[in-house]
Amino acid sequence: MSTQAKDTAPSPLPKVAKQLIVFDFDWSLADQDTDRYVHEVLSPRLRAKLKQLKSSVQFTDLCSQLLVELHEVEGKSKDDVLNALRMLPMHPGMMRGVKALKQSANVDTTFFLLSNSNQVYIDTILEHHNLLPPAFELFTEIVTNPATWSPSGCLQLSRRIPASSPNQHACSVGCSPNMCKGDELEAFLSRHGGRQAFDRIIYVGDGGNDYCPVLRLGANDLALVRRYRGLETRIAREGNVKAGIRYWAGAWEVEGILGELRGEPRLA
Ligand SMILES: [Mg+2]
Ligand SMILES: [Zn+2]
Repeated sequence: MSTQAKDTAPSPLPKVAKQLIVFDFDWSLADQDTDRYVHEVLSPRLRAKLKQLKSSVQFTDLCSQLLVELHEVEGKSKDDVLNALRMLPMHPGMMRGVKALKQSANVDTTFFLLSNSNQVYIDTILEHHNLLPPAFELFTEIVTNPATWSPSGCLQLSRRIPASSPNQHACSVGCSPNMCKGDELEAFLSRHGGRQAFDRIIYVGDGGNDYCPVLRLGANDLALVRRYRGLETRIAREGNVKAGIRYWAGAWEVEGILGELRGEPRLA
């Protein structure tokens, strides 16, 4: 890679009264990718198959098919999948950082989780790490793909926007058919008082599909972009980001930025 793009956000960050922080899940709040990790733990053969087919089959549909194969061909149970999810790496610094920001009396922060993973994966992991009620109420909403267990213990995953729906999204930025994350961010804002209800929006992401919601941010907003992954690449190639950018590579760096968002001095 040539020289790395530099941060464009102001430092120190302006003090605000009310802010919204939007988290992607895989490689953002979590220090792994849920769809791939489950197969890495339970079936390297299906993990390889995912890699082979991901450029030719819609990703949610592919994950759904592989979960059926995991259950019916590989014989893996509901408990096998749940135990794999409980092993998935969540960085202690990230968890400390989000809890401290949510609990801070210095600023009112609304948390929104927006992910192309699925409801069962996310609920299982958040519950295991005490980030779901009644242990701790972190997220106001979680928007992701639906999933349910069949009576025999097969995880049945579907697209947030079913292929049969007449209301397909019209995103031209490149979001996968299952969901446009930019549209979902706008819909969240309409459900919660509109953009003007928040002094600042912060988006934490890593993937190419986080580029669309990052484009919807304004000049007073902030994108926390993970280095060396699809979002950084798309920003470098396509530009057009109005929000200030802070790049990060390790979760410890996000913990530092989350500290700044509640008035702590800059860590690094
Ligand atoms: Mg991600
Ligand atoms: Zn989109």
